[in-house]
Amino acid sequence: MTRPNRPIYLDNHATTPADPRVLAAMRPWWEENFANPGSVEHAMGRAAEAAVAEARAHVAALIGAEPAEILFTSGATESNNLAIKGAARFAAGQATERRRVITLATEHKCVLESVRDLAAEGFAPLVLPVRPDGLLDLAVLDAALVEAPTLLVSVMAVNNEIGVVQDLAAIGALAKQHGALFHTDAAQAAGRLPLDVAAIRADLMSLSGHKVYGPKGIGALYVRRRPRVRLAPLFSGGGQERGLRSGTLPAPLIVGFGEACRIAALEGPLDAGRIAGQRDRFRTALEAAVPGLAVNGDWQARVAGNLSLSFPGGVTAQAIMEAAPELCVSTGSACSSAEVEPSYVLQALGLAPERARATLRIGMGRFTSPMDVDRAAAALAAAWRRAMESSKAS
Ligand SMILES: *Cc1c(COP(=O)(O)O)cnc(C)c1O
Repeated sequence: MTRPNRPIYLDNHATTPADPRVLAAMRPWWEENFANPGSVEHAMGRAAEAAVAEARAHVAALIGAEPAEILFTSGATESNNLAIKGAARFAAGQATERRRVITLATEHKCVLESVRDLAAEGFAPLVLPVRPDGLLDLAVLDAALVEAPTLLVSVMAVNNEIGVVQDLAAIGALAKQHGALFHTDAAQAAGRLPLDVAAIRADLMSLSGHKVYGPKGIGALYVRRRPRVRLAPLFSGGGQERGLRSGTLPAPLIVGFGEACRIAALEGPLDAGRIAGQRDRFRTALEAAVPGLAVNGDWQARVAGNLSLSFPGGVTAQAIMEAAPELCVSTGSACSSAEVEPSYVLQALGLAPERARATLRIGMGRFTSPMDVDRAAAALAAAWRRAMESSKAS
């Protein structure tokens, strides 16, 4: 029996639930073998080390990498910081003219801030605009690469608010043509789209466990070995992860992340087809009930499950959410949605502040049911009508 007020979770870009198979895989590494994977003098430590190695192979396989190219971190925030600041700080100690670091206006805050922080370290950050559909204009990137010797290009695979998929193969090819390193934040892409570090010529790729139905607090950074990409570590310590990321490896989280990646490689394409069908059915139902509803971001180059919806009638997304408390949706990225400011991602598309404030982000996932979709469409339409009535009344 489903209770009428059971929350409907449509915020899978903020985080995904851990898959029950992930929880089962993690359990023995909390309860039975809690050893430090670095304690290779004893049997329990060696067993933990072997479990970490197996998980590393699953993460690597998901993106076409070798296990030795995967570093475990605390999540995509740390991976992005390590990729961007680590590459720059290593280069700072080398004789190189390359000072420009390029990223996009719609990147996650942790990428934008990492790039901007480098200004204080003698680098020249350049934040490129995107087109109104959210995609990078390749001619704009090419011009920026021609204009100044560039150390690094960092472009996300899938945007966490509007779901658009950048043309990573073309971007990677341009970066390499100009001798720059190519980093991509693939936190929203892993498990949702096929990823292959060779095909897109990535030097560095960031992943997050909790965006791929794995645990929170674990992530990875892919660091290319051939040719070898050099980074300066952010932390000093025991020298784990090839000296690039010191700290005791959290074996349970790593095992869970590995299992999540193993499942994603097997089931990701099936998930994507089903989720896209549900997303389209939701859109059709909602558009019929809300005339003038607009979708933000390119419709074709979009990850399954994402909708960025601007509501008509002068209502705010906040008011709609208050009128539909059973729905877990968001106004933008989870980190910045507490701010009153409209989303900088939507503003980068050129949306007027009023339209940005009337925008909801929907993220469907592996565990979204057809009934969730139908209930959510009806609840949102009703909430929009109530929000319009109360805004007229006030
Ligand atoms: C969630 C997310 C991050 C941050 O990942 P954490 O693992 O939570 O640190 C970075 N980039 C994008 C695109 C994300 O969606």
